Amino acid sequence: MEFEAWWLLIPLGCFALGWFAARVDIRYVLREARALPSAYFRGLNFLLREQHDKAVESFVDVSRRDPHALDLQLALGSLFRRQGRIGEATGIHQSLVDRHDLPKEKRELAQFELAQDFHAAGLFDRAESVYEQLAGTAYEAEAVTKLASVLEQEKAWQKAITARERVQRLSGEPQGKFIAQYHCELAEIALAQGDTVAVQNELAVAQSANRSNSRVSLIAFRAAIKSEDSNAATKALAELQRSNPELIVLIADDVATLYEKLGQAQTGVDQLAAAQRNAPTSLGLSRLVDASLKVEGRTQAIAHLKRELTAQPSARESTRLLELESAQHEGPASETMLGIAQLLHRATDKIPGFHCAHCGFRAPRYYWKCPGCNEWESFRATPLGHDN
Ligand SMILES: [Zn+2]
Repeated sequence: MEFEAWWLLIPLGCFALGWFAARVDIRYVLREARALPSAYFRGLNFLLREQHDKAVESFVDVSRRDPHALDLQLALGSLFRRQGRIGEATGIHQSLVDRHDLPKEKRELAQFELAQDFHAAGLFDRAESVYEQLAGTAYEAEAVTKLASVLEQEKAWQKAITARERVQRLSGEPQGKFIAQYHCELAEIALAQGDTVAVQNELAVAQSANRSNSRVSLIAFRAAIKSEDSNAATKALAELQRSNPELIVLIADDVATLYEKLGQAQTGVDQLAAAQRNAPTSLGLSRLVDASLKVEGRTQAIAHLKRELTAQPSARESTRLLELESAQHEGPASETMLGIAQLLHRATDKIPGFHCAHCGFRAPRYYWKCPGCNEWESFRATPLGHDN
């Protein structure tokens, strides 16, 4: 009997040991938690509720009490920057960079944050220099990517190309899309300066960096128009028709003039009609109607409008149809039609032309890099029927 009772005590002993261990563990956690100032938890709570102002106040309170709370100061600095309080963010990060007792990795992180503060403040020279200092650290690839975006903002295209080549080497991520665009920027500068050889060189490098970049054909077309090389112009136009007909709206006037000079005005209208067929846009239809009115006359221009609007109704372009139709009538009928056209125009009077497929930014002109979100090649000519 005594032996069996002994066995009954074993589970009880185990339970007691477990209970004791749990108590020790809970006490440890509570002791650690008590060591953190209550302002820290208040700050976290505000962060979770997205009350950033109050979170910052609480974290400032903690870091005042314990200037060595490193991670907290880093978090605070980045929070300040996101709130646009760049001066305070820079102050925190600079004081961390100046501390030589910090572990190497934390000091480098503070340096990376400091460069981003300068970048956000628009102090590009200083941002550039701090990003450069991160060469050889764990943050090098990220720093060089950000450096490239600083250099883009400074329009320092040659240096930006070198930076993107470094990003490619460090991260293995292809950067051809950016490198091609930077060479196109250099080609545009050379074109404005009348340096034909430099234009051709930059375009050749841009094309080898990114075969699907259609800006190369667009600049080649403009360069050919400038040097009155109609063969090169028609060749570049054919390439654009194949690769990105939507962009032809950007050179519609030059296309019409080119074929007019060649004594083939009708071919010019046909080219615009083909581009519009392949990529129906609001502006494309408008340019086609302009060219058609000049070359083919009102009846044909109306025919283009009717055909396009039947396929894709658009209130904006319908006003054009009403205006053209009203000119074919006289008296009250014509006045009524014009009145309706004006009402319709006012109802659809929004910014026409282009929009960013990435952030939705709308603009009357085309951008290769969106001013709203800084994305490259995200601009589109607004499709017909999406502009009401
Ligand atoms: Zn955008």
